[in-house]
Amino acid sequence: MDLESLKEIRITGLKVNYYYICKRKLWLFSKNLSFEKNNDKIILGQILHENYYKSEKERDILIQELISIDIVDDDYIREVKSSDKMEKADTMQVVYYLYVLKQLGIEKVGLINYPKQKKKKEVHLTKQLEQELLEALKDIEKIVNQPKPPKLEKLPYCKKCSYFEFCFA
Ligand code: SF4
Repeated sequence: MDLESLKEIRITGLKVNYYYICKRKLWLFSKNLSFEKNNDKIILGQILHENYYKSEKERDILIQELISIDIVDDDYIREVKSSDKMEKADTMQVVYYLYVLKQLGIEKVGLINYPKQKKKKEVHLTKQLEQELLEALKDIEKIVNQPKPPKLEKLPYCKKCSYFEFCFA
């Protein structure tokens, strides 16, 4: 999928992240049904983000109005996360960043920081991950264009989701 198509469908990094967490969440978010301001986890993430990279100059870099990268330096793009519980979703979000940068002729390595867990994870845009991402992007396009949200399915982390009341009230 090229950059123009990605921009047309407005696939942001967060949408890729949500695709791997819950397809219903992706759909709700894509319709701007957002309750995220009231969610404690989001607030914690924002505080961590603001404090963790305080000294860095190149922070919150918006690229092609598609992706917003926490930090860019010579070799790495860095992303900070408050919890490592959604590691696959975090990894694919960074794979997406690396893919968008590749379309622009820029090669980087991703680095996800989990400060609370004192853990770091390097992410490389391998052929296998790129292929997986391309399949996911096609599926994301289908989901966000559906007239109705995907069927409700109870997931282990629903209670902590900002859409919990919307889904289960
Ligand atoms: S509450 Fe559960 S089903 Fe509803 S959007 Fe969140 S994770 Fe998905």
